[in-house]
Amino acid sequence: MAPKTTVDKAIPPAKEEAHGYEFGGRIGATLISFGLPIGCYAFAFLCNDVSGCPAPSLLSPRKLFTPSILSTQSGWQHALGTLKHEVGWPGFTGLINTEAVLGTLGWYGLSLLLYVLLPAQEVEGVKLRTGGRLKYRFNAFTSAMTILAVCAAGTWALGPRFQVWTFINRNYLQLLTCNILIAYFLATYSYLRSFSVKAGNRDNRELAAGGHSGNIIYDWYIGRELNPRVTIPYLNTEVDIKAFMELRPGMLGWVMLDLAFMAKQYKSYGYITDSILMVAISQSIYVLDALYMESAILTTMDLTQDGFGFMLAFGDLAWVPFIYSLQARYLSVHPIILGPTYVLAILAVQLVGYYIFRASNNEKNRFRTNPDDPALAHLQYIETSTGSKLLTSGWWGQARHINYLGDWIMSWAYCLPTLLAGYKITPSIMIPGTRLVTTDGMVGAAVPITYFYLLYFAILLVHRQGRDEEKCRRKYGKDWDEYCKKVPYKIIPGVY
Ligand code: NDP
Repeated sequence: MAPKTTVDKAIPPAKEEAHGYEFGGRIGATLISFGLPIGCYAFAFLCNDVSGCPAPSLLSPRKLFTPSILSTQSGWQHALGTLKHEVGWPGFTGLINTEAVLGTLGWYGLSLLLYVLLPAQEVEGVKLRTGGRLKYRFNAFTSAMTILAVCAAGTWALGPRFQVWTFINRNYLQLLTCNILIAYFLATYSYLRSFSVKAGNRDNRELAAGGHSGNIIYDWYIGRELNPRVTIPYLNTEVDIKAFMELRPGMLGWVMLDLAFMAKQYKSYGYITDSILMVAISQSIYVLDALYMESAILTTMDLTQDGFGFMLAFGDLAWVPFIYSLQARYLSVHPIILGPTYVLAILAVQLVGYYIFRASNNEKNRFRTNPDDPALAHLQYIETSTGSKLLTSGWWGQARHINYLGDWIMSWAYCLPTLLAGYKITPSIMIPGTRLVTTDGMVGAAVPITYFYLLYFAILLVHRQGRDEEKCRRKYGKDWDEYCKKVPYKIIPGVY
């Protein structure tokens, strides 16, 4: 049951190419490692179900923080108090609680248990610099389907009162904290453990090419060991920490958050809108597709190039589930009915994006795993001096990262259902004890929040394209330059 390693032949590790700093070096690594977790909290507080999205005072901060108010201590306290009230600040101790800690540990434990118990496909990874290959155990899709089936049954029986959904909505902030803490823990554990890696050892443990600069914070952030693994006591199962975290707790966690937000909308309003349904369905298709194609991660940059550090740990466990689900969270408080025309238009965007994304990724995966596949016979390629081939026609002849274009087009379908976002919450005069969610004076004010993903993802993909380009230039040298001449566009054919 335990993934083992194979050693093709005892070749010495390849001489390492010079590898510069990425992400702004140690300063960038520090800012990202401590700034992005704060960013996650900022989104949670700024767009809330206490006062509005964004919190109304933030639309006119000059009114709240006038020089006369700020010149006195009581003025300061009043302004800060108003802001804390509007964002629902629970105090520092309120950012975590026992229920959330137990729930999070239970979530990771369940994921691990299903990883061990469910039937799995055992697949060999790409060849390592030590000459061997690691074995991976893949059953993320069946694992997800098992969990979702239980949740479907629970929802069928109890509706929005199903305990999983109420638990998530009750502890959203505290769950965020738990996942951030787990990311810090895993990054630190993997960093410290990386010092037991011996050069060229036969366990196929190796350091990531760009992850051992000697700068502690940078190496901790970017990931020092390429494939840290642990053996789970009593279960006698080896787990590849990076592959496990990449597709299991966080990716499915994203879908679970979306579903919990749908339950919240239903509980508050008694119906589910087409907008939140669109968001949840599009995002679930994206996640389930990634889980179904689990073995495709073996050739991604995350697995072949990056070590496991805070960057991946935080991205996988906190950023993806909590930031990528912002639109569903918004719609859970402010329901929007799109109507069939708009739904069909957004669906068309999603389908176009998905087609480009899936077809291009499949073409490359097939070409890399089975280049003699007759379905690929019509494609042209160049032969590089490394023995590896690069496609120059088909999808990969259109742009050097055409798959990123498809992914980015899909991100529009996640954001568009929120329209010109913005709402505020006021007590109802008509029915005491109830609240009104209105768009008065707020139309468009939350666009930077609900469309954040679109902008962030564009930046991520452009940056990632540059990183991958660097890697390919190091690997293929002049052959890569020849490829770039044949395929001049980076992501968008004819434009960029
Ligand atoms: P890619 O799947 O784009 O793979 C890049 C690698 O493909 C290169 O390093 C090279 O590896 C190989 N390659 C490049 N050009 C060619 C060619 N012409 N012919 C054959 N092989 C080629 O890597 P990523 O890991 O960046 O992306 C995987 C998917 O994950 C993408 O669809 C991306 O959109 C998605 N993604 C999503 C994120 C999210 O947050 N939602 C975040 C990051 C990625 P080699 O030659 O060494 O085999």
